[in-house]
Amino acid sequence: MVNQTKFKVLEKKCTACFKCSLSSTRKNVVFGRGNPNAEMFVIGEGPGQQEDEQGLAFVGRAGKMLDTAFSAVGLDTNKDCYISNIVKCRPPNNRKPLQSEVSECIPWLNEQIKLVKPKIIVLAGSTATESFLGVKEPISKIRGRWIEKDNIKYMPIFHPSYLLRNPSKEKGKPKWLTWQDLKKIKKELSSI
Ligand code: SF4
Repeated sequence: MVNQTKFKVLEKKCTACFKCSLSSTRKNVVFGRGNPNAEMFVIGEGPGQQEDEQGLAFVGRAGKMLDTAFSAVGLDTNKDCYISNIVKCRPPNNRKPLQSEVSECIPWLNEQIKLVKPKIIVLAGSTATESFLGVKEPISKIRGRWIEKDNIKYMPIFHPSYLLRNPSKEKGKPKWLTWQDLKKIKKELSSI
């Protein structure tokens, strides 16, 4: 069980952060959403416009896609995982976060993970995979593979915004591949 008090204190500190220049253009700091007592943590790249406006992670179109993909294998993103991002403030025009912004922000994510203590971490997209694990392989090569580190199982998957741009459900296409990855994740989660 997460220490609720420590988690709330961390959220309070994070939402008052001005460590990098993204603080000057954001509307809200997006700390995360979901269940901090879950065994699974999902990491995305950064907040988009909807997330910035609402102050919640993955609530725009990509978030809805993530919800749908998870629910297709019987997982509820508000119950079965906690979701956050590599950077907590929206990069202008949804550009990729700069390395300096990632370096400034990632300690917040590390603190969240320390408190949530997940057994599984799902990395949504190449920015999350590269920034968090230092793995530079293309996401199309590395997705669907378990990577074990410090007693945590990591699984890179396609970012849901990539699935929005590739809507085909045909066998072998990104959506179908993600479905296979999520089935593996669900199986692993059920065995914990
Ligand atoms: S992106 Fe992260 S480091 Fe930068 S201001 Fe927001 S919370 Fe702070």
